[in-house]
Amino acid sequence: MGRSDSLFEKAKRLIPGGVNSPVRSFASVGGIPPFVAGARGSKIRDVDGREYIDYVGSWGPMIAGHAHPRVVEAVRKACASGLSFGAPTELEVELAETIVETVPSIEKVRLVNSGTEATLSAVRVARGFTGRDKIVKFEGCYHGHGDSFLIAAGSGAATLGMPTSPGVTKGAAADTLVATYNDLDSVEALAERWGGEIAAVIVEPVAGNMGVVPPAQGFLEGLRRICTREGIVLIFDEVMTGFRVALGGAQERYGVTPDMTTLGKIIGGGLPVGAYGGRQEIMSQVAPEGPVYQAGTLSGNPLAVTAGLETLRILREPRFYDDLERRSERLARGTRENLEGLGLNLTTTRVGSMLCLFFTDEPVISWRSASRCNTRAYAAYFHAMLERGVYLAPSQYEAVFVSSAHSNEDLDRTLEAQKDALGVAARDLA
Ligand SMILES: *Cc1c(COP(=O)(O)O)cnc(C)c1O
Repeated sequence: MGRSDSLFEKAKRLIPGGVNSPVRSFASVGGIPPFVAGARGSKIRDVDGREYIDYVGSWGPMIAGHAHPRVVEAVRKACASGLSFGAPTELEVELAETIVETVPSIEKVRLVNSGTEATLSAVRVARGFTGRDKIVKFEGCYHGHGDSFLIAAGSGAATLGMPTSPGVTKGAAADTLVATYNDLDSVEALAERWGGEIAAVIVEPVAGNMGVVPPAQGFLEGLRRICTREGIVLIFDEVMTGFRVALGGAQERYGVTPDMTTLGKIIGGGLPVGAYGGRQEIMSQVAPEGPVYQAGTLSGNPLAVTAGLETLRILREPRFYDDLERRSERLARGTRENLEGLGLNLTTTRVGSMLCLFFTDEPVISWRSASRCNTRAYAAYFHAMLERGVYLAPSQYEAVFVSSAHSNEDLDRTLEAQKDALGVAARDLA
């Protein structure tokens, strides 16, 4: 028994499932999660002294690596000036300015404390702005744990969502319509039936919460066209993709500008920050400028904003994204070579530094195709990687995140481990 084992036993008595967010448990792959003692650069260390090359990156924020010396130093300095004021600061203005300068759709922005808060606030504002109640989301997309988003499609034909979580009211579920990712016809069908009642379409412009599923050619453009035609607010949930797939997010990468955007993860540099923003006309609905209420005691917290600002400074340096792209492609190419070498036909996807290895030989374009993956084989692969010192997300349906701290040596070691781990997982694929 290691320290992680005994901590997990104790944690399970005190915290539901022993974790403060379900994704951290090993529920879908089996076993016990290593408890983390610390992290630096590309590596994470557990309480039993084992070190791993980390591709979870705190689920996205650590794009510049763990405990980046510049971010740590900036936060240390900020601490000395006070931890929270509940009053305006210059730092918030600076972060807002940086966001407005870099994210094409954002003319005005409000800071919050998490991605969840950003998406549920954005939807409230879209409803206030349009005077409509319903929203459209896509099966397999995740937008935080707000009631309106915890809905998955029932059967393919279902237009009214059913709650996937007990505790979500029928009323909330009925206001969420579910469409199929990469399928514009499914959106057109909802628009035809509910057109005048739909306030917003919310989408992950690159789906990163059913594995990594890139938008098909024309999908985002099509959403833009439908929303403009129907007077629907198009919301890009860029909590994961913002500052990840490009400095200006997926909207910059694909050249499609939504009406509103939600951010999180990277803009906090590892501390809790979220943000939502958009067109002036829409954002002026937010209190105290407008009637839609949204507030937060710790919103714009000086330490969180400092960590975000310093991280964004690092990202804005020339060649940051080119360099990250090169590292990510090296990992993707090596993975394809490993698969080929072993005669395995598995689907891989990559958008910038978001990668995925799907344990299926079919193309993955939506939740329906993603859900056909052999998750038992993924579990075997995951544990074989962990044993070899590589920390992946304990779920098939998460991204592999490459950071600027992953060295060529890290990537080569990862690929070496992967060759063995795929051999182990192949037994489950047979
Ligand atoms: C992580 C995530 C969220 C939720 O953010 P939290 O900070 O965990 O509340 C929302 N949307 C997307 C696309 C995400 O990846």
